Amino acid sequence: MNKKLFLLLTLLLFGTVSFAQSTKYLEQIAPMALKNREFVLYFQPICKFDLNKICGAEVLTRWIRKGEVITPGKFIPIFEENGFIKEFDAYVVDNALNYLQDWQNEGLQIGFLSINISAIELDNMKFIEYLKSLLIKYDIIPDKVIIEITETKEIKNQKTAREFMLALKNLGIKVALDDFGDGYATLDKLETFRYDTIKLSKKLLDNFQNKKSKKELGKTIKILREFSVPLIAEGIENIQEAKFLRKQKVAFAQGYLYYQPMPEIDFKKLLSNKLPKYCYFK
Ligand code: C2E
Ligand code: CA
Repeated sequence: MNKKLFLLLTLLLFGTVSFAQSTKYLEQIAPMALKNREFVLYFQPICKFDLNKICGAEVLTRWIRKGEVITPGKFIPIFEENGFIKEFDAYVVDNALNYLQDWQNEGLQIGFLSINISAIELDNMKFIEYLKSLLIKYDIIPDKVIIEITETKEIKNQKTAREFMLALKNLGIKVALDDFGDGYATLDKLETFRYDTIKLSKKLLDNFQNKKSKKELGKTIKILREFSVPLIAEGIENIQEAKFLRKQKVAFAQGYLYYQPMPEIDFKKLLSNKLPKYCYFK
């Protein structure tokens, strides 16, 4: 091939690839992608340490476009910036609860399903009404549902956020503080909201090999235990981490050591085989 033509083709190819994932392009196509159901719910099992079994799962959404997987890290910040996140969160919650109903109808037991929503929702009381209508529509026992919220700079109005969380709890839904140890959520802020569970960020395990960090992690967990809520550790990748967290009385485990996030079809197979008959969130 002629050198100039090769160069042109290469530029075009890379140009197209980067445009296909560029903010502007993703922003433009997102509404249509939502209608076309390109956003697919994946499920990452969450296991109970003392039972050594799956008890629940976290919903983690993937954007599957023309066979290519776009991870949430790429599109969530864009949707939060342009406001599309409200439609997106509504779609995820609807689909998640619909699945929960399907499993219920098929006699598959699950202790809980944990769903991420953006901190931007915290001033959106309409979301509460919407959630309430979905619980009725799909006939869901509310305490099977956990809503995960990450404390970010978006939580500007603490009073409104508190009211939002209280309204969630009044529905009977559980509220999780997501990504503890990664950013805005700090021990002194924990008093503000009455979370039903705290999820320990993978970041806390980043320096696990380092003796000092490991000791610090132990101290943090000890303080968190004083809140008397079950703790969920995320991002567990090896047996040493698992053993340590279990010894520290962390209740639930989530991470690649156990399972990767997976499509519903695979998760359902796990539910049919592996779930203990009675597994509650506590
Ligand atoms: P997150 O809520 O902190 O979710 C945990 C992330 O860690 C997920 O990334 C998960 O796939 C990944 N992970 C789980 N176990 C391991 C492990 O052992 N090692 C490593 N290295 N990673 C692990 P993912 O799926 O890319 O999601 C990124 C973030 O996007 C999530 O962080 C969450 O904040 C957001 N997100 C994902 N799905 C949704 C959704 O449906 N709605 C909203 N609003 N946000 C979502
Ligand atoms: Ca989460």
